[in-house]
Amino acid sequence: MRQSQLFTKTRKEAPKDEEAKNAKLLIQAGYIHKEMAGVYDMLPLGLRVLKKIENIIREEMDNIGGQEIELSSLQDKNLWEKTDRWNDQNVDIWFKTKLKNDTELGLGFTHEEPLTHLLKDHINSYKDLPKYIYQFQTKFRNETRAKSGIMRGREFLMKDLYSFSKTDEEHSDFYKKARDAYLKIFQRVGLGDVTFMTFASGGSFSQFSHEFQTITDAGEDTIYLSREKKIAVNKEVYNDDVLNQLGLDKSSLEEVTAVEVGNIFNLGTKFSDALELKFKNESGDLQSVIMGSYGIGLGRLMGTVVEVMSDEKGIVWPKNIAPFDIHILVLNQDDEDVSKYAFDLYEKLQKEGKEVLIDDRDKGAGEKFADSDLIGIPTRIVISRKAVDSSLFEIVDRQSQKVTQVNESDILAELMR
Ligand code: ATP
Ligand code: MG
Repeated sequence: MRQSQLFTKTRKEAPKDEEAKNAKLLIQAGYIHKEMAGVYDMLPLGLRVLKKIENIIREEMDNIGGQEIELSSLQDKNLWEKTDRWNDQNVDIWFKTKLKNDTELGLGFTHEEPLTHLLKDHINSYKDLPKYIYQFQTKFRNETRAKSGIMRGREFLMKDLYSFSKTDEEHSDFYKKARDAYLKIFQRVGLGDVTFMTFASGGSFSQFSHEFQTITDAGEDTIYLSREKKIAVNKEVYNDDVLNQLGLDKSSLEEVTAVEVGNIFNLGTKFSDALELKFKNESGDLQSVIMGSYGIGLGRLMGTVVEVMSDEKGIVWPKNIAPFDIHILVLNQDDEDVSKYAFDLYEKLQKEGKEVLIDDRDKGAGEKFADSDLIGIPTRIVISRKAVDSSLFEIVDRQSQKVTQVNESDILAELMR
C-alpha cells in the first residue's frame, strides 16, 4: 500500500482526552478513531491488525473442531427471561431498545441464550453431539467505566465459542483442548511470555473457571502468580484451601496487575435446563446438554499488545499481527531514480508474498522516521539518494532498533528472512 494514498494521517501529538496508552498510540498513529468514550472505529491499519488476530483465533478454533456462525445482535426478551438474565438487577450492562410497537429488544452482550435456543432445531440424539460452535461477533455492554481505550469498549468484537457435550467427560476433554488452543493463540499474537492461565471461581457446575491474564499495569485485575508453575489464581479464589489444592506456596506467589484477555467456563446444564435443550441418550432417555463457553475480546487483545509492546517512540507490533511486514521509507522521493528504485523493490517484495507499506509521501526524512517508529511495522528499509549511489542500504528492526547495512544484492534475502 502507498502511504500517500492512505486516508488516515498520523498526529504530531497523542490525543489529550485519552488516559490509556493503547488508545493514545492507536489514535495518534491512525489505527482507530474515537467516536465517544468506549466507542471506537477501526481504520485501515487497525482493521488489518484486527483481521490478523481474527485469523489466528479462527485457525486455532477450527483446529479443535469449531464450526463458525454469526448470530444476530438483536435479542428476544422472552429467551432471556427464561434464564433470568433480562432483569436489569441481574445484568446491569444491557443496552435495550424497542420496536415501533413497543416490543422490547436487547443488544446482545453475550450469546448463550440465542444459540442454545437455536440448537433445539438441530440436536435430538446423542448422535448429534458433541458440537463446538463459534463466532466473531459484536457485543454491546453498557460498561460503567470505559477509560481503558479498546481494552474495555461499550461495543467490541468477541470470539465466543460454545461447546455442547453429552457427558462431563466429553466436556472436560474439549475444555482441555480449548485451554491449550488459547495458550497457542496468546503465544502467536506475541503475548505468550506474559499471559498466564489463572484459576477463577467456577459457578455452580465446577470448582474453577479459567481466565487468561496478561501482565500489564493497564489491567484492572489483581492475580497471584507462580512464575515457576506458569499459573496464577485470581482474587476470588485466593485462599489457603485453593493454594493447597493447586500445590502453590503462598510465599512464592507474586501479586501482579493484569488484564483478562480470555476466559473459559463450564456452564453445566444451566442454559440447557432453562431453555430445554435436551438429547436422547443411548437408552432413549432425555438428558440436558452439558455446555461450556470460551471467550476472547479481540480489541482487548489488540490493546493489550500495544500496552505491552510499545516503547517511547510508538508501537512495536509482533510480526504475526503487524499491519504490514515491511515499511519502505523513500527519502528524496522527488528524485526519479530513487523513486523508481523504491517502487521496484516494493513490487518485488509483494511478489514474494510480503505485505509492504511504502512511504512515498511528500514529507521530510525526520517526519518519515518518526511516523515509521510510531506505526511500528517490524522491519523498515530506507531508500535514499545516498543509499542508491553507494549501493549500501539500511534495514532497521523496529523492536531492537538494530541497524543492518546490506549490499544491494543482499536486500531481498535479508528482507525475506
Ligand atoms: P471483565 O471482568 O474484564 O469485565 P468479563 O468477565 O465481563 O470481563 P466475559 O463476559 O467473560 O468478560 O467476556 C469474554 C472476553 O471478552 C473477556 O475475556 C475479554 O477478553 C473480553 N471483554 C469483556 N468485556 C470487554 C469489553 N468491555 N471490551 C472489550 N473486551 C471485553
Ligand atoms: Mg465485564
